[in-house]
Amino acid sequence: MKQPTVIDNVETYACATRILQAGAPWFLNLGTKQSSGTKLVCVSGDCPRPGVYEVPFGITVNALLDLIGVNDAGYVQMSGPSGEAIAPKDFGRTIAYEDLSTGGSTMIFNQSRDVLDIALQFADFFVDESCGWCAPCRVGTQLLKRELEKIVAGRATLGDIRAIDFSCANRRAHEPLRPRTDRPQPILTTLKNFPESYEARLRPELFVPAVDLQIALRDAVSVQGREPVAQRG
Ligand code: SF4
Repeated sequence: MKQPTVIDNVETYACATRILQAGAPWFLNLGTKQSSGTKLVCVSGDCPRPGVYEVPFGITVNALLDLIGVNDAGYVQMSGPSGEAIAPKDFGRTIAYEDLSTGGSTMIFNQSRDVLDIALQFADFFVDESCGWCAPCRVGTQLLKRELEKIVAGRATLGDIRAIDFSCANRRAHEPLRPRTDRPQPILTTLKNFPESYEARLRPELFVPAVDLQIALRDAVSVQGREPVAQRG
């Protein structure tokens, strides 16, 4: 009672037990110079053997995928929606504090998955998660989702991509609270590591309005039995 402690999770308890059993030198010998020991990773998604794995720090994403029997990964999301979207070109990177720092969540998506659809689901998740207390978070998550929806719908231009990139980077740079700074992360990291997925959806025009009037009025027009906007003279 009333004693401070540095133990705050089961993973720490497990590591402490192994250190007491096998000694600190044994533990320090595992992992990398800056990330000693092992890490628990919780693997889910498109993989034949999902579950919790204990791996040495310094393991590459490729080695982890081999361990869990995945040979068609097209995208790995490290550390949940707030983490980093990793493309196949970066599967040689290592799980370690000095490289891919992770809380443990590892989501695997195979090559048939649509990267933007995944990013949109993460953006939607952050809308749900916002408790609505702070305006930048409450409104910002909605704006990010709408910006991404425009891209996914194939109605965005290069100008929209630049605007969303600037807007996300700006939010990360100026919002001091950790929960809020994580909101643009799915868009920022997919934009950085999967630019081709975004470019494939772009329109050649310089500007496309944010609102598609036909879609916005479709339900009302249908209820009133009127002709669609574009067909009226
Ligand atoms: S930053 Fe945190 S407290 Fe503020 S609205 Fe978002 S979830 Fe709520």
